[in-house]
Amino acid sequence: MLRTKEQYHEDLFRMRPNICIGGKMVGREDPRLMPGIRVLDLTFDLANDPEWKGLATAISPITGEEINRWAHLPQNPFDLMQKQKLIRLAARRVGGCIQRCMGHDAINALAICTKEIDEAKGTQYHTRFLDYLRQYHHKDLDGCCAQTDSKGDRLKRPSQQFDPDAYVHIVEERKDGIVVSGFKMSITQAAYADEILTIPTRALMDEDRDYAVAFALPADWEGMTLITRPVWLREKDDSDAPPFCKYGVSDSVIVFDNVFVPKERVFMCGEWEFGRRLAMLFADSHRHSYSGCKPAASDILCGVTALAAEANNIQKVSHVREKLSEFAGAAELAFAAGVAAAVFGEKTSSGVFFPNTIYANVGRRMTGEMIYHEYNILTEIAGGIGATLPFKEDFKCEQCKAHLDRFIVRNPDLSSDESLKIWNLVENVGASPMTAWYEIAGVHGGGSPIMETIALGLEYDYETRKKLARFLAGIDESFDDTKDRNSTPSFGMSLIEDKKK
Ligand SMILES: Cc1cc2nc3c(=O)[nH]c(=O)nc-3n(C[C@H](O)[C@H](O)[C@H](O)COP(=O)(O)OP(=O)(O)OC[C@H]3O[C@@H](n4cnc5c(N)ncnc54)[C@H](O)[C@@H]3O)c2cc1C
Repeated sequence: MLRTKEQYHEDLFRMRPNICIGGKMVGREDPRLMPGIRVLDLTFDLANDPEWKGLATAISPITGEEINRWAHLPQNPFDLMQKQKLIRLAARRVGGCIQRCMGHDAINALAICTKEIDEAKGTQYHTRFLDYLRQYHHKDLDGCCAQTDSKGDRLKRPSQQFDPDAYVHIVEERKDGIVVSGFKMSITQAAYADEILTIPTRALMDEDRDYAVAFALPADWEGMTLITRPVWLREKDDSDAPPFCKYGVSDSVIVFDNVFVPKERVFMCGEWEFGRRLAMLFADSHRHSYSGCKPAASDILCGVTALAAEANNIQKVSHVREKLSEFAGAAELAFAAGVAAAVFGEKTSSGVFFPNTIYANVGRRMTGEMIYHEYNILTEIAGGIGATLPFKEDFKCEQCKAHLDRFIVRNPDLSSDESLKIWNLVENVGASPMTAWYEIAGVHGGGSPIMETIALGLEYDYETRKKLARFLAGIDESFDDTKDRNSTPSFGMSLIEDKKK
């Protein structure tokens, strides 16, 4: 089934009010959550729009029903590219983060990892997870991913923390389920999600067994509190807000206080050897998702910069054109890395087709490195008005209006109304709470930059490249790259063997 946004609202607004914003418990109809809810609305609208069928929707391999693509398990490279394309196109329409990819990446990680745990340990998690996912597909649910623990002292393992709740952990194992406690943080979309998909955030050791836990719960489940921070700080008057300001996002600290998780919703319970695998499966899938959303962020910044250049009447100046080309490079290289990750991905034993981790990581790393630079380009071209623009009420006030209508025009081809709309957009994109959110998410979302370095350290074949250098330096007489893991990744063989085939 495909829910409409109205059905999504009905389900959402029925939930237990377990959200705290600014010191008060509130329901999900709180206006400060609406900018985020509107983003989700669009994802339901697109799935129901005949023009978006096949892109915003897919056929569930579990139920055979048409489902929202955000709930899909990719079966082949095409599915991965469709996900990437959907993220880019949908993100453009809401001016940034589309917020559904974390849930998508979490269900994929769980589908793959539960199968691998079962294969190694003879457990029954995979069937249990597929039963859960059948309902998820059938009811067209939306999940967020709660991976990041509050983590306490960064240099201590979960079991060494002075506060055991620094990582979500098992408090009690019962016949019918488990009891968990702990804190997750920075969880995007949790306040307006149907389900919270909880997975470990790091590699674990034997002594961290209680921290090896994965499960899914409705977002208003007994014992769970969401302490939520909507990004727009002010309660916005949405009546005449431009599209960029209608949309937004909220992130939550999730407090699990002795929460009972029924057995049928537990997907890892003590298998500490799979902590790293599950964490990495989510992270790598999410890094691939960035190859869709980061190009959209570059598209938006590029457009706003071009518009600001026009409003300043400097659009034909050579340094402006050169700077705009940097956006093209950032967007399309990231997108290309995502396509390569899809093409060179691999089928896992669960049947899920998973992106190539090298391309997913190099693409994500580049986008993280570029993000502040791209905002800097906008700032350079726009000038300082983004931070000093008078309030919109002043443009309506009797004493100021006549002055400001003249003040705001820099390019005589633009009216004062158009000029004001452009500079408002520059402020909102380049100098607002959303700016800080996108900059910091651009660096840390999907893992801090060091995590991509670690992933590449594990997977990239640096040794073969060193052997190449020894050969080129004349130290070794020959060079064998038949075992190079990275030159033709999806075939797992060297260029030479490919040619022989
Ligand atoms: C806007 C936004 C949205 C997000 N949404 C989600 C979400 O929906 N779901 C989710 O699960 N997470 C989400 N996150 C969390 C994100 O994944 C984390 O911010 C990221 O993984 C970094 O973790 P951290 O913030 O705890 O930083 P830290 O891990 O504290 O990193 C800070 C620095 O400490 C270093 N460091 C940390 N540990 C060690 C160590 N042991 N040894 C040496 N150095 C170390 C890091 O390399 C880094 O340089 C979001 C984050 C942001 C900013």
